[in-house]
Amino acid sequence: MEVIRSKFQCPACDRSILNRKIDRCLYCGATLPQELLFSPEKIVALDEEARKQEERRKHHPTPQTVEQPGFLSSAIVTIDTIDIISDIAGLFD
Ligand SMILES: [Zn+2]
Repeated sequence: MEVIRSKFQCPACDRSILNRKIDRCLYCGATLPQELLFSPEKIVALDEEARKQEERRKHHPTPQTVEQPGFLSSAIVTIDTIDIISDIAGLFD
Protein backbone atom coordinates (compact mmCIF):
# COMPACT_ATOMS: atom_id res chain seq x y z
CA MET A 1 0.00 0.00 0.00
CA GLU A 2 1.34 3.35 -0.98
CA VAL A 3 1.47 6.00 1.67
CA ILE A 4 -0.11 9.26 0.63
CA ARG A 5 2.58 11.87 1.06
CA SER A 6 1.72 15.38 2.00
CA LYS A 7 3.54 18.10 0.14
CA PHE A 8 4.14 19.68 3.50
CA GLN A 9 6.76 17.65 5.24
CA CYS A 10 9.09 18.17 8.12
CA PRO A 11 12.59 18.87 6.74
CA ALA A 12 14.13 17.10 9.72
CA CYS A 13 12.23 13.79 9.82
CA ASP A 14 10.46 13.87 6.41
CA ARG A 15 7.04 13.14 7.88
CA SER A 16 3.83 14.96 7.04
CA ILE A 17 3.14 18.10 8.99
CA LEU A 18 0.00 17.33 10.96
CA ASN A 19 -0.82 20.83 12.08
CA ARG A 20 0.46 23.73 10.05
CA LYS A 21 -0.72 26.12 12.71
CA ILE A 22 2.05 24.92 15.00
CA ASP A 23 5.61 25.92 14.09
CA ARG A 24 6.97 22.63 15.40
CA CYS A 25 7.01 19.09 14.05
CA LEU A 26 4.71 16.88 16.14
CA TYR A 27 6.95 13.87 15.46
CA CYS A 28 10.46 15.07 16.09
CA GLY A 29 9.93 18.52 17.60
CA ALA A 30 12.00 20.32 14.96
CA THR A 31 11.15 23.96 14.29
CA LEU A 32 9.41 24.18 10.93
CA PRO A 33 10.27 26.82 8.35
CA GLN A 34 7.78 29.66 8.05
CA GLU A 35 6.95 28.84 4.41
CA LEU A 36 5.50 25.46 5.45
CA LEU A 37 3.17 27.05 7.98
CA PHE A 38 -0.08 28.94 7.69
CA SER A 39 0.17 32.69 7.87
CA PRO A 40 -1.26 34.31 11.04
CA GLU A 41 -4.14 35.64 8.89
CA LYS A 42 -4.86 32.12 7.61
CA ILE A 43 -4.83 30.73 11.16
CA VAL A 44 -7.37 33.38 12.24
CA ALA A 45 -9.57 32.47 9.24
CA LEU A 46 -9.31 28.74 10.02
CA ASP A 47 -10.12 29.30 13.69
CA GLU A 48 -13.13 31.35 12.67
CA GLU A 49 -14.27 28.59 10.29
CA ALA A 50 -13.82 25.93 13.00
CA ARG A 51 -15.84 28.07 15.41
CA LYS A 52 -18.66 28.41 12.87
CA GLN A 53 -18.70 24.66 12.26
CA GLU A 54 -18.86 24.02 15.99
CA GLU A 55 -21.76 26.47 16.21
CA ARG A 56 -23.57 24.62 13.40
CA ARG A 57 -23.04 21.27 15.13
CA LYS A 58 -24.69 22.62 18.30
CA HIS A 59 -27.75 23.78 16.35
CA HIS A 60 -27.99 20.63 14.25
CA PRO A 61 -27.02 17.62 16.35
CA THR A 62 -25.98 14.51 14.49
CA PRO A 63 -29.05 12.41 13.57
CA GLN A 64 -27.56 9.27 15.18
CA THR A 65 -29.40 9.69 18.51
CA VAL A 66 -32.61 10.88 16.83
CA GLU A 67 -32.66 7.80 14.57
CA GLN A 68 -32.79 5.37 17.48
CA PRO A 69 -36.63 5.20 18.00
CA GLY A 70 -37.11 4.98 14.22
CA PHE A 71 -35.21 1.72 14.08
CA LEU A 72 -37.97 -0.20 15.89
CA SER A 73 -40.77 1.11 13.68
CA SER A 74 -38.79 0.25 10.55
CA ALA A 75 -38.38 -3.29 11.94
CA ILE A 76 -42.17 -3.50 12.36
CA VAL A 77 -42.63 -2.28 8.79
CA THR A 78 -40.33 -5.07 7.64
CA ILE A 79 -42.42 -7.69 9.47
CA ASP A 80 -45.64 -6.25 7.93
CA THR A 81 -44.03 -6.41 4.51
CA ILE A 82 -43.16 -10.07 5.01
CA ASP A 83 -46.83 -10.77 5.95
CA ILE A 84 -48.02 -9.00 2.81
CA ILE A 85 -45.55 -10.93 0.67
CA SER A 86 -46.77 -14.25 2.13
CA ASP A 87 -50.38 -13.17 1.47
CA ILE A 88 -49.51 -12.43 -2.13
CA ALA A 89 -47.71 -15.77 -2.36
CA GLY A 90 -50.87 -17.43 -1.06
CA LEU A 91 -52.77 -16.17 -4.11
CA PHE A 92 -50.62 -18.30 -6.32
CA ASP A 93 -51.21 -21.50 -4.40
ZN1 LIG B 1 9.93 16.20 12.15
